[in-house]
Amino acid sequence: MWYIVSGVLGAVIGSFLNVVVYRLPKEGLKLWDPPYSFCPVCKHRLSWKDNIPIISYIYLKGRCRYCGAKIPLRYLLVEILNTATYILATYLTSDLVVLVSLFGIFSALIAISFMDLEYMGIHDSLNISLLIFSFLFAWRVHSIVIGLISAGISVGIFLIFSLLKKGMGMGDVLMIGAGSVSLDFFTLDIAILIAAVGGLVYSLLVYKGLKLGKTIPFGPFLAMGIATGVVIRVISL
Ligand SMILES: [Zn+2]
Repeated sequence: MWYIVSGVLGAVIGSFLNVVVYRLPKEGLKLWDPPYSFCPVCKHRLSWKDNIPIISYIYLKGRCRYCGAKIPLRYLLVEILNTATYILATYLTSDLVVLVSLFGIFSALIAISFMDLEYMGIHDSLNISLLIFSFLFAWRVHSIVIGLISAGISVGIFLIFSLLKKGMGMGDVLMIGAGSVSLDFFTLDIAILIAAVGGLVYSLLVYKGLKLGKTIPFGPFLAMGIATGVVIRVISL
């Protein structure tokens, strides 16, 4: 029963994350203004039938009902990922505070990843959301002091890394800092390892080598690292 509740919640929040990813980086578009969804191509206002998470996308075969424009696959992916992580979180813990913080951490990581992939940048407000839920998690699971030390270590490492290799932005450094608050020393190692290996493999595949000055969207790899670290931390409780 709880899996269904959290799955539906995950799908609804996932749908909201799509709005966040689309609107936050754009000038002149606020999160709540206009208060309705619209097709980015024909600007037609969407009805509730077009707005049901996951189902509408599949039913409409990924196209706008009004102009037939293709809706990016990202919309479906974000909703499915958010639903899946909420169900996973519900499976992992029965502690309500831990559950809420997991929901927040996963959603922030998903929004950051997809925004970074599309716009090569991470919005501060998403890093702040990640930080708040990481603090909540740290407070309940280990301690805020451990979380702050983890954040200090990771920010230090990635700051040096970003100075050496210009491809990493300040948003990435802030993100690993915010996410590391939810990690202890063991899970921090795992998170950094996954992020580094992911980023390296990506660079090798896409650029056929490590080129200085090439910007890679590092957010998704950091997100995978942090998410894995948090999951291991909860399992080891
Ligand atoms: Zn349209």
